Amino acid sequence: MSEFKPVRFVDVALEGQFWRERLETVLTRTIPSQHVQLGKQGVLLSLTLPNQSLPLSVPGNEHDSGQVLWDSDAGKWIEAASYALSHRRDPDIEAWIENIVDDLEKAQAPDGYLNCWYLQREPDKRWTNLRDNHELYNLGHLLEGGIAYFLATGRRRLLDILERYVDHVCKTFGPNPGQKRGYCGHQEIELALVKLYRLTGDRMHLDLAAYFMNERGRQPHYFDQEAVERGENPRDFRAKRYEYNQSHRPVREQTKVVGHAVRAMYMLSAMADLAAELNDDSLKKACEVLWADVISSKIYITSGLGPAAANEGFTEDHDLPNDTAYAETCASVGLIFWAHRMLHLELDGRYADVLEQALFNGALTGLSRDGERYFYSNPLESDGRRGRWAWHPCPCCTMNSSRLIASIGGYFVSASENAIAFHLYGGVSTNIQLATGNVFLRETSAYPFFGSIRIEVSPDAPAEFTINLRIPGWAHEAEASVGGCAVDVTACTRNGYLAISRLWNAGDTIALELPISPKRIYAHPSVKQDIGRVALKRGPLVYCVEEVDNPGGAVQQLKLPRDARIKTVERGDLFDGVVTLTASKTKSGETACTGMRPRSFRAAG
Ligand SMILES: [Zn+2]
Repeated sequence: MSEFKPVRFVDVALEGQFWRERLETVLTRTIPSQHVQLGKQGVLLSLTLPNQSLPLSVPGNEHDSGQVLWDSDAGKWIEAASYALSHRRDPDIEAWIENIVDDLEKAQAPDGYLNCWYLQREPDKRWTNLRDNHELYNLGHLLEGGIAYFLATGRRRLLDILERYVDHVCKTFGPNPGQKRGYCGHQEIELALVKLYRLTGDRMHLDLAAYFMNERGRQPHYFDQEAVERGENPRDFRAKRYEYNQSHRPVREQTKVVGHAVRAMYMLSAMADLAAELNDDSLKKACEVLWADVISSKIYITSGLGPAAANEGFTEDHDLPNDTAYAETCASVGLIFWAHRMLHLELDGRYADVLEQALFNGALTGLSRDGERYFYSNPLESDGRRGRWAWHPCPCCTMNSSRLIASIGGYFVSASENAIAFHLYGGVSTNIQLATGNVFLRETSAYPFFGSIRIEVSPDAPAEFTINLRIPGWAHEAEASVGGCAVDVTACTRNGYLAISRLWNAGDTIALELPISPKRIYAHPSVKQDIGRVALKRGPLVYCVEEVDNPGGAVQQLKLPRDARIKTVERGDLFDGVVTLTASKTKSGETACTGMRPRSFRAAG
């Protein structure tokens, strides 16, 4: 297991334009507008119990209306809003959160149970359908919200409410007589409990997370048993198979990533957390096997996951259609969570490469530049009729975008006792406490568009330690120097990180040059939808071709001969500065592919 721990986002200042802009948009527009939407959609009202006036549920299809998830939407918004408060306090946001906490406090049952849907609709049926109805999932998101709010403000009323609920869950679930041996159909509670354990140090919280993970997929199957207890046929399960929620077999025996993509990513994130906390090699090994599976045959070039809408998830290996790709924003965000945790099991650039790829091409695309419109699915090809939503009946992706961006600083740097590791670049500064004392670091770059990176290293007193710099897998022949003296990058790079160990003095400067040039990327030959097709990447950014840059022709008909030269163009006029690509026409005049922009900056939507 790695000794590295992430440097928290509150300790990392975003100074580069790319991320500063996005963070500001999320803080000033996304978080408040999401609160308005939660009000409009009835989510906030659903927390005020009892409430008979709420227009609840689709007749005859109550559980499928999405309303059983509403507690989670409130929790995710509180989490994102609390990250915003960590950047700067805001009385309006705090008042909105306090109102929600008031409602939850009033709603909580005397025994600690707190699920607003069940308390309002079917109070006698709690814990009777873990397979479908998300009670523990909702608690997980509320818990992440409560933890974030406490860390941002020091206020622990919400956390206290939720700890009472967790105590109730601890009593309800377990191997002892009278307890339920169940677990949630939608994983989430496990990673939230690990977060709670890291805050409280209470072993009971970690043990409960491990219990849920270890029970998953055991026989006799809990979801069969509870269906029989409900008087239902276990086979009468909408998703048909337990692969859907990754409970088809115990997690350590799973060798293929299957089913609903977001559930899979949350589960794998929790498995990596538990592997780290429990020093559990069998869980780490299972994560590595499943990582290899998803990366070798189930991932889009955008790091989108899950091609199918039917199960919101995975199908066959190499089934990666472009126009019907589901590739839910939440799945890419979940992949970032998982990759980040894998990176802290083992400092390996493979994980950081995927994290970065998912961040720029699968997750960021989910939120518009104005911060108020969203993509749920992220197809790689469109006829122009798809645009971003102002909201979605199931708004899971909306708050996944905001909570990711509001805490993005936490993905840049990690530290151990005597080493620092940079995973991402883009203009950050931070103070890190090593065993040898405090070190101030400032990374300056125009990443992801340009690969010239400068890092100022200023320990309070001269000290020996190691700085690890990620050399992305796409960056060949990177060069580095310290104070003008060249570093042998090839000799000093291991697992994608260039390690520079020396006595550092205040004001020392590292220069890192990552060559960024357009590259043609071809899919695995088994991806039949991509035969004869090529994708273009420059650095971490996947590019797209749109009619707005190529007027007068159907972009699907464009051709890019293998010998066509691809040029980069700095466009200061486009989105305050991006780098676009153009390909010149060949002698035969075939190439009409005149303009391509990064996917995150596409005009559509
Ligand atoms: Zn989603």
